[in-house]
Amino acid sequence: VTTVGGLLVGGVVHPIDGVEVLNPLTTSWAKLGPEDYKMRRTSWVRQFIWHTTKGIWPQHVIPGAGPGGKDKILADFFRGDPEHSASQLGIDDDGSIVCLCDLATIAAHHATVSNDHSVGIEIYQRGDGGIYAVQLATVRKLGRALSSVFDVPYQVHTRPYGNAPLARMVVNGGLDCVGHFGHRDNTHRRGRGDPGDYVSAELRADDAESFDFLMREDINTWKRRQAWLNAQGAKLKVDGIAGPSTMRALRSLGLREGRQIPD
Ligand SMILES: [Zn+2]
Repeated sequence: VTTVGGLLVGGVVHPIDGVEVLNPLTTSWAKLGPEDYKMRRTSWVRQFIWHTTKGIWPQHVIPGAGPGGKDKILADFFRGDPEHSASQLGIDDDGSIVCLCDLATIAAHHATVSNDHSVGIEIYQRGDGGIYAVQLATVRKLGRALSSVFDVPYQVHTRPYGNAPLARMVVNGGLDCVGHFGHRDNTHRRGRGDPGDYVSAELRADDAESFDFLMREDINTWKRRQAWLNAQGAKLKVDGIAGPSTMRALRSLGLREGRQIPD
């Protein structure tokens, strides 16, 4: 049976323009092992946590694309891994994506305290640290697609890497941290190369909004926006957390993103 490729979210397939996306409906090996995930307890997926498979630093970009086939290797590795770590999404070295489960309902074991409210994305990395240019092009398309499908603000943490994760995130998975992050922002156990500096640079270049989460710039900005939305008739708690009700209030005014709110 050939079905359309795309991200599987709540039983609905969301294709991504110009990128091949395998999923459990298209591909028999595209699935997680039973010990690699739990069912989500939250209905609000609020974080996208980016990884590199090898976590190597320094990194360099290789022009073009790799030979492919790393998506199946990744899926097989997850199922055989005795530590049962796994992410929901993988980016192959040919730039294609594999989606290993329904992203709305499955919490894969990729980022400990953040698992329940996040989606994990593993970017295949070569043993010499290299990442292919085509994979970075996919990072942009996937980052934008995830924010759009889940209605999570397209925003990234952009403080330069400082050898430490975000204090807000290590405690409880950063329930108030909304947007795109690196695994290195999430835990003391990973270094600069997981995922390296390219992911946030790509998302920023794709016009993702940039906040210093350590300085709570995201919270302060969204508090101002929530107060403005309330002045237009919304009834939001002004807590600076851009959750589903904040995004609904934004949409109901015909706005596409937070930046359209006047300062
Ligand atoms: Zn990682």
